[in-house]
Amino acid sequence: MTTSVVLFTRDLRLHDHPPLRAALNGSDAVVPLFVRDRAVDTAGFAAPNRLALLSDCLRDLDAGLRERGGRLIVRSGDLVAQVCAVAAEAEADEVHVAADVSGHAHRREEALRSALEARGRRLHVHDAVTTVLAPGAVTPASSDHFAVFTPYFRRWAECSVRDALAAPRKVRVPDGLRSEPLPAREDLAGLSPGLARGGEREARKRVSAWLRGGVTGYADRHDDLAGDATSRLSPHLHFGALSPVELVHRARRGGGPGAEAFVRQLAWRDFHAQVLSARPRSSAADYRTRRDRWRTGAAAEADVAAWKDGRTGYPIVDAAMRQLRHEGWMHNRGRLLVASFLTKTLYVDWRIGARHFLDLLADGDVANNQMNWQWTAGTGTDTRPHRVLNPTTQARRFDPDGVYVRRWVPELAGLQGRSVHEPWRLPEAERSAYGAYPDPIVGLAEGLDRFKRARGRD
Ligand SMILES: Cc1cc2nc3c(=O)[nH]c(=O)nc-3n(C[C@H](O)[C@H](O)[C@H](O)COP(=O)(O)OP(=O)(O)OC[C@H]3O[C@@H](n4cnc5c(N)ncnc54)[C@H](O)[C@@H]3O)c2cc1C
Repeated sequence: MTTSVVLFTRDLRLHDHPPLRAALNGSDAVVPLFVRDRAVDTAGFAAPNRLALLSDCLRDLDAGLRERGGRLIVRSGDLVAQVCAVAAEAEADEVHVAADVSGHAHRREEALRSALEARGRRLHVHDAVTTVLAPGAVTPASSDHFAVFTPYFRRWAECSVRDALAAPRKVRVPDGLRSEPLPAREDLAGLSPGLARGGEREARKRVSAWLRGGVTGYADRHDDLAGDATSRLSPHLHFGALSPVELVHRARRGGGPGAEAFVRQLAWRDFHAQVLSARPRSSAADYRTRRDRWRTGAAAEADVAAWKDGRTGYPIVDAAMRQLRHEGWMHNRGRLLVASFLTKTLYVDWRIGARHFLDLLADGDVANNQMNWQWTAGTGTDTRPHRVLNPTTQARRFDPDGVYVRRWVPELAGLQGRSVHEPWRLPEAERSAYGAYPDPIVGLAEGLDRFKRARGRD
């Protein structure tokens, strides 16, 4: 009897799973394995919100495997050592895994390959599992990756996307393998109270509902903060409970401007993945340095604390920061404007903001988070790196009636219409009625001047 190990990482699903399909086709039995990698915890990436979603995904994956006659084997510790041990116990010749893009994933792959080869076993790495196209599938003539989205997208959209695979009907897992108990969401402390649920079933339900309804209006409404008219599929994509390949096929089949705009956003995901894959150090270092000397010291620290707490005195910024804390998710327009506010108006290092996002976001991942933060800070791939988003203008445009702000900043719930965006403009007597809400921590003109001077653009 031949046996293969399928190592699940950020691809926690049964539908459209090339490593699982290859293992099932090439052997009599498979070991579906998940290793709770100690290195992820040590690096500080094991935030409670994401651990909860991970737990949902693992439970769902195990349930799906059991329906097909198998089960999930869970281990924890050093990933390479655990995979080698399980492969030895199961007498497996091959290990299948999805390719991934971060520096950590690259090092993990190399270490796993050499450890397995030293024991006479082979590692198969499958592309286009966590992304639609593999990083490097399209490149410009002069570089190993695209540094600008628009030309990348032009080429990306012309590529054929591999067919999506059906979920297997039967999965035969060898008897006698030890598995650790599955982690439970209930055991975790510090979760956001409004955190969504994860897992493949939940993700597939959400996709079907989205493609039946919401996506139609996506092109027009994706920036409407109060309308909440985006897919909210990002946590499911982060854990791979959904295949981005399958999602592109299904959206294109439906067609229309909404689906096209939605597929374009999925290409942004691939875009950041190919940047990080080619430049792994940009998870922590500027992709393009602007020689910033970010603010430090007590005043900057106080500003960061106010930003994290949603108490900057700019209601739209505060609303978005409070949504993040409450839901472990934030609307994209909110992410853009709070990141611009921190890095440009307050002139604080993007890494401080990115860390806070990673502590809370259910979808927080190195490629999308760090590269979007760099994009917003002007150290990344934005072709207009010094643009500064004015929170008040953004608020008037993307929350014209103030509904989003009133939802998240209850202190201001009594203010009508767009006046909620500039409470500091109210007559003194009215302002005192909202005394619990702070005055702006910095004037916008002052912040803009400081930023321009810092970037040598005054
Ligand atoms: C500062 C900042 C930090 C961010 N951090 C993350 C992060 O850690 N993880 C993450 O998945 N996204 C991140 N994003 C991108 C984006 O905000 C989210 O993907 C999006 O808001 C998720 O909501 P949704 O699923 O409803 O998106 P939709 O609008 O429905 O878009 C569909 C999918 O396209 C992808 N997508 C959309 N916009 C982007 C983008 N700008 N970059 C990459 N992929 C995108 C996502 O996978 C998303 O689920 C960040 C953006 C900014 C500005």
